[in-house]
Amino acid sequence: MSEFRQDPLSGRWAIIGSERAGRPNEFVEQAMRYSSAACPFCAGNESATPPAIVQYPSSGPWKVRVIPNKYPAVAPDPAPALSQRVSDRTAGRARGHLFPFASAPGEGVHEVIVESARHVVSLTDLTPDEAALVFRSYRDRLRSLRADGRCRYVQIFKNVGPAAGASIEHAHSQLIGMPQVPETIERELQRCELAQRQSGRPLLETILEAEVATGERLVAQTSDFIAHCPWASRFAYQVSIAPRKQQASFEALEDSEMGKAARFICDIIGRMERALGRPAYNLFLYTEPFDSHRCDHYHWHIEIFPRVTKTAGFEWSTDCFINPVPPELAAETLRAAEHVD
Ligand SMILES: [Zn+2]
Repeated sequence: MSEFRQDPLSGRWAIIGSERAGRPNEFVEQAMRYSSAACPFCAGNESATPPAIVQYPSSGPWKVRVIPNKYPAVAPDPAPALSQRVSDRTAGRARGHLFPFASAPGEGVHEVIVESARHVVSLTDLTPDEAALVFRSYRDRLRSLRADGRCRYVQIFKNVGPAAGASIEHAHSQLIGMPQVPETIERELQRCELAQRQSGRPLLETILEAEVATGERLVAQTSDFIAHCPWASRFAYQVSIAPRKQQASFEALEDSEMGKAARFICDIIGRMERALGRPAYNLFLYTEPFDSHRCDHYHWHIEIFPRVTKTAGFEWSTDCFINPVPPELAAETLRAAEHVD
């Protein structure tokens, strides 16, 4: 089983080694293009995956199904091999060496949300009902895992297309719940907290207000949600979606809001797909960590990164991305790509 290791220089955590190395398609460029008869995520092939944790609707044929990942990066009960390695290190320490390497068992949850019983690829291929159930399942899993108490943070994400890291074509999201809050979220929380102290306002509220006022990077807005291309977008055509009003956790969304949220998010992805020819994309949800008494200044937000540019040496080395498309131009293109009936 895997373990979390923290780099002593950068403070970044990594998940090292796991059963994932046994994935049949590991290191293969092309996503598996199952026909629906062979696809493990299609209705009728449920026996190819572990039993469902939850499915929607709860009775009758399912539309959205949450299952444990068959090749998890982390697991609820790390195997004994790990403690063996830990004791080897303790021995190293006992010999009087300084030991700068922090680690933690690869304890957590890794789940897959199958977004449709039909063999479809993108969120925009879902029916409005399926799409609403997908976001409802995000919220419900966040609520359950918070109550469960084992995780401090749950990252929900989607990989669509081989270039975005998808290994199975059938539309799905994943979630990894972990005992640490990732460095990226920690940094956002600290910056939000600082801004709140300095200006007395949530940082994302200030950002969204400025984006609406200038309109230059605005992609779309409703009375509930705003989508814009961020000022310092790391990727060409990157879009950020956030609730208009401060709401730290995605868990706060009500059932009645799921349809609206799903419609808005699918509208934005639809624009991206029309403008760029259905590119591969990653989508992820940033929401408050579970130990969250400090987060009343945070906003959940969804980031969408079409994978139309390459991440290369400079980006990996510096975390400073070269983005050839100014977000003002990207937003203009995405505004014009509105769906017209
Ligand atoms: Zn399928």
